Amino acid sequence: MPPLPSHPGLREILARGERSFSFEFFPPKTDAGERALWSAIRRIEAFDPTFVSVTYGAGGSSRDRTVQVTKRIAAETTLRPVAHLTAVGHSVAELRHVIGQYADAGIRDVLALRGDPPGDPKGEWRAHPHGLAHACELVSLIRQLGDFTVGVAAFPERHPRSRSWDGDIRHFVAKCRAGADYAITQMFFRVDDYLRLRDRVAAAGCDTPIIPEIMPATDVRQIRRFAELSDASFPDELARRLEAARDNPADGHRIGVEYATAMSERLLAEGAPGLHYITLNKSTATVEIHRNIQTTRSARVLAAAR
Ligand code: FAD
Repeated sequence: MPPLPSHPGLREILARGERSFSFEFFPPKTDAGERALWSAIRRIEAFDPTFVSVTYGAGGSSRDRTVQVTKRIAAETTLRPVAHLTAVGHSVAELRHVIGQYADAGIRDVLALRGDPPGDPKGEWRAHPHGLAHACELVSLIRQLGDFTVGVAAFPERHPRSRSWDGDIRHFVAKCRAGADYAITQMFFRVDDYLRLRDRVAAAGCDTPIIPEIMPATDVRQIRRFAELSDASFPDELARRLEAARDNPADGHRIGVEYATAMSERLLAEGAPGLHYITLNKSTATVEIHRNIQTTRSARVLAAAR
């Protein structure tokens, strides 16, 4: 594969200390899902985010859809797509092929992930016999193949399978040193968890920017399912408020947007390099949160200028 030309990208934006605002989508399974996704993408495009990312499915057709959606974003919108890629079930030759497809479509940004065991995400991880064992190897592979900007995953409450913080931070730093330009966290609901992770990484001598991922918690059932899958702790007070709004979606929506707005504002005030929003292919909650933050930030700029 020929080397890609050098380009100003996310790496430079973060190195300049600019804040990144981004939104995450997943590849839909149905035509109706596809229409909902594109309506959300078009709405979010109007906000000129730094990038949008598309998650990588657990297998076969869903992976093809990730590649198709990411390519279409690159071809038909003004957005910068970041393609998630996992090592699950792939030989190195297959990984090279997927990365080559991205490069051919002009996609320069990849989020390099190990992935979870298919079927039971909490089961024991087994690498493909001709594949890669850890995300740091995928970072190195992508780096070898061209001038990509590479992101990795970070875990404010520690990776659920890690036995100690020391090991988790050591492995995180190793993937940064392998060539990661930035990291995006797992979803979390307590800002202090993010700040502690950032302090631990800094104490290990690593200054890779870590972008916090925000999941608007508007529906208690859905959020409990996600939190359980990702092992994210869910604050009792937020759970209690959402539980009380269980049969009133408008109240749940308001509570979730308020909570995520407050988290976002505190994270930015604490110097987070940006914010990455899980959209679940809907734009309403994330657009409201983004607008709330822009309004607060504009008010601060105006107040400072007076
Ligand atoms: P790694 O960095 O490889 O770490 C996994 C575990 O192995 C950790 O416990 C780590 O401490 C340990 N480890 C790392 N290196 C070594 C080593 N050399 N020796 C021993 N142990 C080691 N999954 C998907 O399937 N598709 C997606 O699109 C997707 N997107 C995600 C986006 C974000 C922002 C995040 C945070 C996660 C995402 N995931 C996705 C989930 C992710 O794939 C899983 O959380 C997975 O378990 C960890 O991936 P990783 O890249 O952090 O793995």
